[in-house]
Amino acid sequence: MKFIDVHAHLYLMQGKEEEDEWRLKYSERYGIEKLIISVLGSWGKRSPLYFPDPVDFRSGNKRLHEFIRSYQGPLELYGYVTVNQAFLEDSLDELRRGVEKYGFVGLKLLAPFPCNDSSTFKLIEKAVDYDIPILIHTFHGRKSGITGQNPSDSTDVAFLSKNFPRAKIIMAHIGGGGDWEYALKAVRGTKVYVDISGSGCDKGMIEKAVRIVGVDRVLFGTDLNMGVGIAKLLDSNLTHEEKLKIAWNNAMAVFGGALK
Ligand SMILES: [Zn+2]
Repeated sequence: MKFIDVHAHLYLMQGKEEEDEWRLKYSERYGIEKLIISVLGSWGKRSPLYFPDPVDFRSGNKRLHEFIRSYQGPLELYGYVTVNQAFLEDSLDELRRGVEKYGFVGLKLLAPFPCNDSSTFKLIEKAVDYDIPILIHTFHGRKSGITGQNPSDSTDVAFLSKNFPRAKIIMAHIGGGGDWEYALKAVRGTKVYVDISGSGCDKGMIEKAVRIVGVDRVLFGTDLNMGVGIAKLLDSNLTHEEKLKIAWNNAMAVFGGALK
């Protein structure tokens, strides 16, 4: 089976070269032909892990653009513009640069507060104008109370989708930890897509995602767990046609003409 990974990462930073090489080598080996990548950059050094400041996200997106442009291998690489809406003006500026100058095909939201905050709304409107999907870093637990971190949960994502019905919102990594069954129910009946990435591979996860949100709204993704991502889809109790939709067809539909 061939795959489109809608939740791929590259670090593109010193000390992580081998991991990036590994990612591309094994994507090729396992049939992941198209990767839609957000950069992880230096997050954790300059600014908190997962929540880059403008200097970090600008340099990260730029490195990703340069990497994609110079890449000569057999894979098709695409970019998400990563922003942190805590810095709204910088994020709007970066979204424009990412789409119009870099040719990126999606928006990745990484903020240390939930996406139902009004700071997110202008970015969603711009993404709707550009007709690009929005990948939202989501934690599937109840509010964690970790200092400096209060990411979106599934109810915040559902709220956003109900208020912006034209937005193509992807709720990240149902296998990313926490209560994924609760998360699936929270977005049931909305237009939210879910990606299956994350290290969690509980029995029945993929089948339940299909049953609750519908087979057309489930997307293949791996985040930092490529082998697990592939295994949990291939080993799921779905028909070949359903797996094909998740692995490939749904991503082609949601990203529209942006993918070759
Ligand atoms: Zn991720």
